[in-house]
Amino acid sequence: MTDRLKILAKTPELPHVQGDRYGQLCQRAWVEIDLTALDKNVRQIHRLLSPQTQLMAVVKADAYGHGAVTVAQTALKAGASWLGVATVPEGIELREAGIESPVLVLGAVNDPEQIQSIARWQLQPTICSPQQALVFSEVLGRRETKLPVHLKFDTGMSRLGVLWPEAVELAQLVDRLPGLQIASIYSHFATADDPDPRVMQQQQERFHQAIAQIEATGIKIPRLHLANSAATLASSDLHYSMVRVGLAIYGLYPSSHLRSAVTLQPVLQVKARVTQVKTIPAGTGVSYGHQFISDRPMRLAIVGIGYADGVPRSLSNQMQVIIRGQRVSQVGAITMDQLMLDVSAIPDLQTGEVVTLLGKDGEVEITADDWAKTLGTISWEILCGFKHRLPRVAVDR
Ligand SMILES: *Cc1c(COP(=O)(O)O)cnc(C)c1O
Repeated sequence: MTDRLKILAKTPELPHVQGDRYGQLCQRAWVEIDLTALDKNVRQIHRLLSPQTQLMAVVKADAYGHGAVTVAQTALKAGASWLGVATVPEGIELREAGIESPVLVLGAVNDPEQIQSIARWQLQPTICSPQQALVFSEVLGRRETKLPVHLKFDTGMSRLGVLWPEAVELAQLVDRLPGLQIASIYSHFATADDPDPRVMQQQQERFHQAIAQIEATGIKIPRLHLANSAATLASSDLHYSMVRVGLAIYGLYPSSHLRSAVTLQPVLQVKARVTQVKTIPAGTGVSYGHQFISDRPMRLAIVGIGYADGVPRSLSNQMQVIIRGQRVSQVGAITMDQLMLDVSAIPDLQTGEVVTLLGKDGEVEITADDWAKTLGTISWEILCGFKHRLPRVAVDR
């Protein structure tokens, strides 16, 4: 049984759980991926776009922890036509699963072996400096077909990209280099989730300046793209020929002021089972360091999930979970594989019952935004934080 579980968890396509398989696959703790919610989110975002604008589903970091292959397949069926990854191995994983749509590698690749892999697997790289363009051309220059490449301009994020005043030189260089062909030009916003649009507007102006200079040289640019989730939801003026959407397809909003644009539903839920229930007397210390001491006789539930699964230890004594549609408080330090709950309000709770850490049960919902707020971080980091020890299973609701 455990061998079978491992094999299923390793196949790139998420196993679907229904009926009996739920009991088999979802034993200790697991992540549920709601493909119906994913499909709806992608369709809604696609509906915001004009027919000239393509949708890239950003599936880097194993689709923000959701499982890249299954997410990519679902997103492509729902209207996405491009995929975005951060690294070459992430792109190869999609190709090995038989996915044929264009895949843009958003991260930088400089190593000749990786450049060969890009060509072999028909991935499309980001080029962000003249030196990098020369290495690519050296490695690929003798091939018959030209490799489509995407030029990345730094218009104010100060991360990857050629600085915008130097953009025209990079475009002219790539245009004449053998083996390469410009497929798009893009840039990335630093503050698209800020209600104050000024920095974003400045970046957009710089982008336009660089594009105008390039077009003045006669170079044709087939595609322009600027928008991440926040910019896609903020304004159709930012859509250009493509938008690159990550967070929003997973059902979270980049910022609460962008909620009115679409109705999104979180795709990922984290669940675990109660492994033991007992009553402790008043004055009993709970977990390492006895950070929590019961002030009354307390019904305590032990749950089989911990920080090694991606539940941050800094949520200790600060988080709630849902059991039978009721909020319940976590108590004591969260340990590597287990955590404890005060379940005094549910005296007949049984071993094996399901605990929802993130997700919805009945009317109650706890989201990655709730955790992010407590922890002083962003929902992106929460989603990416769940470890591979948690089997991921697909559900259609
Ligand atoms: C990750 C990433 C995105 C997606 O960002 P979201 O805010 O999750 O939509 C878009 N573009 C680039 C270049 C990225 O690295």
